Amino acid sequence: MTLATINPTTGATEVLVKRHDRVETLERIDEADVAARKLRSTTFEQRARWMHAAADILTDQAEGLGELITVEMGKPIQQSVAEVHKSAKAMRFYADHAEEFLAEVPLEDPAVVGASRAWTCYESLGVVLAVMPWNYPIWQVVRFAAPALMAGNAGLLKHASNVPQAALFFDTLFERAGFPGGSFRTLLIGGSEVADVLSDPRVKAVTLTGSEAAGRSVASIAGDNIKKSVLELGGSDPFIVMPSADIASAAVTAVRARISNNGQSCIAGKRFIVHTDVYEEFAEAFVAHMSALVVGDPLDPSVDVGPLATRGGRDDLMELVDDAVAKGAEVLVGGYVPEGDGFFYAPTILAGLDGSMRVVQEETFGPVASLYRAESAEDALRIANQTSFGLSSSVWSTEPEEQSWFLRNLDAGAVFINGMTVSYQELPFGGIKRSGYGRELAADGIREFCNLKTVWKA
Ligand code: NAP
Repeated sequence: MTLATINPTTGATEVLVKRHDRVETLERIDEADVAARKLRSTTFEQRARWMHAAADILTDQAEGLGELITVEMGKPIQQSVAEVHKSAKAMRFYADHAEEFLAEVPLEDPAVVGASRAWTCYESLGVVLAVMPWNYPIWQVVRFAAPALMAGNAGLLKHASNVPQAALFFDTLFERAGFPGGSFRTLLIGGSEVADVLSDPRVKAVTLTGSEAAGRSVASIAGDNIKKSVLELGGSDPFIVMPSADIASAAVTAVRARISNNGQSCIAGKRFIVHTDVYEEFAEAFVAHMSALVVGDPLDPSVDVGPLATRGGRDDLMELVDDAVAKGAEVLVGGYVPEGDGFFYAPTILAGLDGSMRVVQEETFGPVASLYRAESAEDALRIANQTSFGLSSSVWSTEPEEQSWFLRNLDAGAVFINGMTVSYQELPFGGIKRSGYGRELAADGIREFCNLKTVWKA
């Protein structure tokens, strides 16, 4: 049984990797468990040194790793290399700030609880399992691994099946950087084997980034075993444009927000909701910029949009567009599979949408934008909040009261005002509704997998 790197640009199988069997999986859980005990007695200073060394490896190998990402999942090469540098930066961030984020917090007046001293501290949990997606094959793993290891946990990675080379890179990375052997191990297994791993008493918690279906399944296994879970799931983020906005800038940013990572980002603007007073002006600029994109081989630095990561993903996207068109949606640009090899889909804008179309409720994971006309701010908010997702959102308005009204009323884990959503290591990241629960990044991300221990002393 194997896992394969299938190059989405050509459709050709490039590399086959043997899966781990049950015995190998159990050995790896065991190694991680032993490492977790060792890590618990290391200092922040030691772990920070190792984490910086791991970041150095990423920085040194950025070009090669970038190429590997592009060959495995089709991201344009500059974005792949940027992903590696961003990941190294996050590793250094947690190396430098973990101790401060996990510092003891004393109760100012311990006498009120009858103590001479009372405080809280954060302890590691042990082995944490990460189930990760292919869309940012390095960044998604690092934003789990860096805080988890800096908190003194060990990590097990079940990466997406279509990125086995990225998965194998992580199998040795942290050990090469100095962490005790077994501190971070890859499990080359399928989704159906996650239940066995998560039910193992040595595994204390799980974090999953991926689809709603995978999240539901993993969260219910965690629930059965009374284990902590964090879910980062899909999104159908609104991008709201109001009359006071800089329309030219909003239209340029809208295209970037929608096509970054070939449109396969959870926090991409996917539904563009434009006030009727500026709808025509915005739509014209949006269509012009979308039409000018260069689609092609993602290893060519002049290309803006590469293929979708998998044939299945491309076909799902095609079905969503075809469903909308069959029910009367208007295609302003794109709407077709380009001729030739690979899993490409043309950058597309759909308009004239109604609730009977799947695209109104479901996530479009690829370069397909939905354009909506809103009659008022209230109407824009209604459209924005009408999906079951609640990851991030973007509001374009220069009126302070309008900005505050939207930011208070949008059902989302984040609001970006006059900008597109981006993940920053300094800011917490996560969603509400069916986009999941829990937070990654910043101080909140490292505290998710710690035991907040209360201490009372007579
Ligand atoms: P996916 O099919 O859910 O896969 C994600 C991971 O879950 C993979 O490792 C996959 O393994 C595993 N998996 C799938 N079904 C499983 C199950 N029943 N039990 C246990 N594990 C299971 O999602 P994807 O297609 O890779 O990624 C796209 C989705 O991720 C989109 O919805 C996107 O919005 C979301 N996403 C969210 C965030 C966020 O931070 N909120 C970030 C990135 C992506 P196999 O590959 O072996 O199936």
